[in-house]
Amino acid sequence: MTFSAKVKAEICRDLPSSRCCCTAMCYGMLLYGSVFTPREIRIISASDELFSFMPRLFRRTFGFGFDSISEKRTENARRSFVIRDPGKLSAICERFGYDPERMPVLHVNLGVLEEDHCRISFLKGAFLTGGSVTSPERGYHLELATDHASVSRETHALLGELGFDAREASRKNINLLYFKQSAVIEDLLTLLGAGVSSMDLMSAKIEKGMMNTVNRKVNCDAANVKKSVDAAQAQLRAIRLIQEKSELTALPEKERETARLRLEHPSETTAELARLHDPPVSKSCVNHRLRNIMAAAAALEDQDP
Ligand SMILES: [Zn+2]
Repeated sequence: MTFSAKVKAEICRDLPSSRCCCTAMCYGMLLYGSVFTPREIRIISASDELFSFMPRLFRRTFGFGFDSISEKRTENARRSFVIRDPGKLSAICERFGYDPERMPVLHVNLGVLEEDHCRISFLKGAFLTGGSVTSPERGYHLELATDHASVSRETHALLGELGFDAREASRKNINLLYFKQSAVIEDLLTLLGAGVSSMDLMSAKIEKGMMNTVNRKVNCDAANVKKSVDAAQAQLRAIRLIQEKSELTALPEKERETARLRLEHPSETTAELARLHDPPVSKSCVNHRLRNIMAAAAALEDQDP
């Protein structure tokens, strides 16, 4: 099951409880469906969830269902939900305030969508027939696609009023509204009643973020280990040089102790080396002594090339 299908299944779980919201949901489906004219209504969808939901919704809203629903021949095939009966068509047109005799360019009739609950139901319907959302493992993208340019513009405004600022684009003759920000998509899915999918998106994002943090930490740790190994190597070379020249005893007592510990623990970090002192000293103290040792070695090198 794709993520889109999961979201649609969640939206389809229940019919809207009030008549106004049933009407609004049908409206969204029709304006984001394939054909909506006074002669034909056709909604094409591959979604199995819509197969039983849409006829129930239409029956609840208008008192009748579709004239025909085509058979699905393959798993991913799409079904056509069709109404051609003139009586049904004019009843639907009139419900949305269109004149069935001469239907102009389709607009969103805001008179049908006065309340926020109806607007949300409209968006649910629009998403069911014209929407899709990318699986969060693959990225963040939610879109609404319709043939009707004015409908897209007006839906854009409607979304804006609800606090969702969609981006607009057109693909061939299709008008798109889309979102790319995961947090906005999460909020929109929640608004559309797909709270579980919204949580899925959130947890996929957290998982991804955690993996990135772990990877960053591993890389960072590796770089730090290399740095401290290189430093320890340089310190050991310096101490051995001093030893060769039998000059170790010439070092101050504190530096001598640090040199001895470094020789005994060649791969420890300075922090651990600091703890190994008796009594333990601070890391900066160890660093200070190691710098003195390095300087003494450098002086010896200069003396005797
Ligand atoms: Zn309503």
